[in-house]
Amino acid sequence: MTEKELLVQKIRNGTVIDHIVAGKALQVLSILGVSGSEGKTITVAMNVPSRKYGRKDIIKIENTYLSSEITNKISLITPHATVNIIKEYEVIEKRPLELPEEFIGLFKCPNPNCITNSDEPIETKFYLTSKDPPLLRCRYCGRIYSSSEVI
Ligand SMILES: [Zn+2]
Repeated sequence: MTEKELLVQKIRNGTVIDHIVAGKALQVLSILGVSGSEGKTITVAMNVPSRKYGRKDIIKIENTYLSSEITNKISLITPHATVNIIKEYEVIEKRPLELPEEFIGLFKCPNPNCITNSDEPIETKFYLTSKDPPLLRCRYCGRIYSSSEVI
């Protein structure tokens, strides 16, 4: 099998996330909550040549259909990724990512004095206050951060 054939090999059923920023696939899997310990067949291709972006990562998760609620969580890390839902080798849904209105428990607040960084068992929560560029406001300390500050 040539390298190209391997990369384009289709899955029968599942979710393919394409055009991930090169090198970010493992971070994306962690945010999606997919560790591999569930026994699912997961293919991760990193730093694949891409006509559009130079290099990209691709993730294929077989027999799993990820909801947009879940996949949208990765939009701050890789805003131009596309999610393809595959059934019987056909792409039945191709959806771009959308920035969610809030991010719960995903990122740590960069403010060391924020209550979420104390010993209190409080889950972090950020609200999207601006889309382009994305700005996030911490629900607890009220500070506003760019996406690179919280990731
Ligand atoms: Zn905070």
